[in-house]
Amino acid sequence: MTNQISPDNTERTVGRDAQRNNILAARVLAETVKTTLGPRGMDKMLVDNAGNIIVTNDGVTILSEMAIEHPAAKMLVEIAKTQEEEVGDGTTTAVMLAGKLLENAEKLLDQKIHPTIITRGYRLAAEKALQILPTLSAEVSSDEELSKIAQTAMTGKGAEHAKEKLSELIVQAVKIVATNGKVDLDDIKIEKRKGKSISDTKLIEGIVIDKERVSQEMPTKVINAKVALLDCAFEIKTPERETRISISSPEQLQSFMNQEEEILQAMVKRVVDSGAKVVVCQKGIDDVAQFYLAQKGIYAIRRVSRTDLQKLAKATGGKIISNLKELSEKELGFAAVVEEIKEGEEGMTYITGCKNPKAISIIIRGGTEHVIDEVERAIKDGLGDLASIVKDPKVVAGGGAVEIELSRKIKEFSQTLRGREQLAVEQFALALEFIPTTLAENAGLDPLDVLTELKVSHEGGNRNHGLNLFSGKVEDTMARGIIEPIKVKNQAISSSSEVAIMILRIDDVIAAGKPKEKRLNLSQMADYE
Ligand code: ADP
Ligand code: MG
Repeated sequence: MTNQISPDNTERTVGRDAQRNNILAARVLAETVKTTLGPRGMDKMLVDNAGNIIVTNDGVTILSEMAIEHPAAKMLVEIAKTQEEEVGDGTTTAVMLAGKLLENAEKLLDQKIHPTIITRGYRLAAEKALQILPTLSAEVSSDEELSKIAQTAMTGKGAEHAKEKLSELIVQAVKIVATNGKVDLDDIKIEKRKGKSISDTKLIEGIVIDKERVSQEMPTKVINAKVALLDCAFEIKTPERETRISISSPEQLQSFMNQEEEILQAMVKRVVDSGAKVVVCQKGIDDVAQFYLAQKGIYAIRRVSRTDLQKLAKATGGKIISNLKELSEKELGFAAVVEEIKEGEEGMTYITGCKNPKAISIIIRGGTEHVIDEVERAIKDGLGDLASIVKDPKVVAGGGAVEIELSRKIKEFSQTLRGREQLAVEQFALALEFIPTTLAENAGLDPLDVLTELKVSHEGGNRNHGLNLFSGKVEDTMARGIIEPIKVKNQAISSSSEVAIMILRIDDVIAAGKPKEKRLNLSQMADYE
């Protein structure tokens, strides 16, 4: 189209075309993640330009790794990320609902119903759903219930056979770090080490850092350790020095070396004087310094990441020092034991009995990196779910039970409305059925049969009946321990409806020109249909 006010290569799509285009992109995305939903969902293998492989079942991981350029599709990826940040689980559900809401909206658009009416209907329905949700929930408190929540979050994520052990570990971890109804997941440090099996994954009450002590001469274990946390280098090499110094005689070299050694010795002395028995350094530690530190019986690790250093500061109560001159006893942290323990080939540093007992680590073990990474995502889903349970200890029945009941109630609600919004509210109700039908489909069951059975059950007053994929039957999933935090559903419903509404309100897409090869290939997306 010609356009006088924008540069030539600006692309503009308006009206129905813009809507169709956006809806299509959202639907494609929803269809992409759909096959991963639930315990029988399939995994996806993602390969990037460099050939790195990720095998995952996790909605947000898939979407963040895909190179998505379509603006509407990007908005959907954003809700997956929000869902992940807010509750740490339910990303696939959120994206699927958004895709379905848009797909259903298209039917109404085809019937010449104005987008404003659709968005108003969707808003009404979403509000209603959020009102109804608490009435379908139950309070949980026992460890067993918490463990069931973690297990439901982890099913289908490659940790199947170690599910019980891992869920206990997750419950334990969350209980340790919970303070006043809040869980800061940053207090739980996750370390990964290849080798052994998933069931060897363990919880350590302390911080574990993937570093060995710098010198074999150092002690392997320090008791009642005062810990110096340094973000300055234990070296004297600086670029300016290297360029400026020119040495012309052996004597000069010797004196230079002596000088260097003296400086390093002085640095070590500062550590010794402060009373520190352990040095954790973000930068390097010179060989000569290593030697003198070892002589003084000091345990040192180097090239520790900034985040680890910060975690240690919080755990040990120490202060991160940028200049050794500032080092004194009051800046030091404390840990009852600092020890190097071999995990597989290499050693790791265990810092336990910290001043702050809320610092804990989980060490994930597994046969291959891909397995370990997927277990990490499963554990994070479990941790996220339990963190939201600590905030709001309510659960709803899984396996599509809560979606079917909401759908039924919202259909009833639509009957009380007049005008064409009613149609939009109805479509909202239908969109919710997408979750149970997909759970069935992914398990190789007939989605329509399952849907019918669920509806009949719910009409009969069994509001907690869902599809139990352990037994393959429609039954009371709440009683079977297939439970999810209410917050996961709450967030999925509100964010998916928000993004659907936002996308429906767009009727003009003005895209600045980009190099051709970089643009999203919409014709390819259309082929998909
Ligand atoms: P999400 O990214 O949305 O969390 P998941 O792949 O984790 O997607 O699947 C979550 C869905 O799987 C929820 O609807 C949950 O109720 C369902 N689910 C989990 N375990 C079972 C089970 N044993 N039987 C049936 N449904 C289950
Ligand atoms: Mg999940």
